[in-house]
Parts: sequence; C-alpha cells; structure tokens
Amino acid sequence: MDAVSQRRHTNSRGGTVSFLRRLFGQPEAPRDERGIYLYAVCDRCGQPLRIRVDRQYDLNPHDEGGYIWQKTLVDSRCFRPMPTVVIFDRNYHPISMEIEGGHYISQEAYEAAERAATHEEE
Ligand SMILES: [Zn+2]
Repeated sequence: MDAVSQRRHTNSRGGTVSFLRRLFGQPEAPRDERGIYLYAVCDRCGQPLRIRVDRQYDLNPHDEGGYIWQKTLVDSRCFRPMPTVVIFDRNYHPISMEIEGGHYISQEAYEAAERAATHEEE
C-alpha cells in the first residue's frame, strides 16, 4: 500500500463545523453566557455587522481588572478590514470602543439596518 496516501491529512474543518451546528443548534442560542454582542456598520458600504466577543477566549486582561479586545472586523459586502480595539470594565461593559473604517451602533440600529437591507435585496 502507499504509505504516503495513508498518512494524508483528511482534516475537514467544514465537516466539524456543520457537525457542531447540528449538535448545538443555531449560534443565536438563548443561553450564551460567554458571548458579548457588539454591533457595527462599515463606513464604506454601510453593511451592518453583529460581532460576538467570547468572554473566555477573546478578552485579554487590561488595567484595573478590565479587559481588552482587539480584532480586525471584515464585513460581508465590501470586505474592507476594520481594525478595532474595545476596552471593557470588570463587569464586561464596554468603556472604550475604537474602530477604523466603521462605527459602532446600538442593537436597535443594527436590527433596523438589517431589516432595511433585507427589503433592499427583495
Ligand atoms: Zn464594507
């Protein structure tokens, strides 16, 4: 037998993800105690984004018991990278939100923008 092909990695991340989706259902499960949701909009194309920050994995310790989160967001329309830095206090409330190429919006504004975008495409 061909030993090389036997050792070939058949690691399919897509398979794992769809398996987890089946296992845990929708990502918007009502009990998501680790998730912090932020909402932003791209300044170039206006695409609204919902961002989930995981308290356990995404946050790094910051001054005086707070946390810092750094990420480059990419919207799904124009794909422009938007680097962001958010600082949370010890109760996970955002106290500083900086983003380049976009801006943060409220959940209500996000949902209104989503509805508007859906109507636009129909
Ligand atoms: Zn965009």
